[in-house]
Amino acid sequence: MPELYECERCGKAFVRRNPSERVCPECKIKDDEDLEAIKDFLIINPNSTVDVIEKNTNVSKKTILRLLEEGELESENFSTGKRCVICGKPIDRGIYCDDCAKKIQEDLKKLSGSLDKKGGYHSR
Ligand SMILES: [Zn+2]
Ligand SMILES: [Zn+2]
Repeated sequence: MPELYECERCGKAFVRRNPSERVCPECKIKDDEDLEAIKDFLIINPNSTVDVIEKNTNVSKKTILRLLEEGELESENFSTGKRCVICGKPIDRGIYCDDCAKKIQEDLKKLSGSLDKKGGYHSR
């Protein structure tokens, strides 16, 4: 059942065919490019946190975290052990420590807020 959904990358509404689609088809292409850039970077720098990846690949933190949540990026790729992808602190499970998980929720709220204000055409 097609439904109208707001792209999580550019904010543009698009018709999605299944609930796992979180970005519009145009942004999906950019996502794939970003994914390749991140993976290439992690091969050379396997213990990188999100901040380091953002600086070196020019992929926004929001996109990196979304790709992680979608399972496109394995948290194992980020580090050799179980570490928080944000601060590098050792954790038992998941991809963030509790502190960073809280911070991300706040950050994402802020980010989506600023996207709305700009009218949604963020990446153009
Ligand atoms: Zn989009
Ligand atoms: Zn952390």
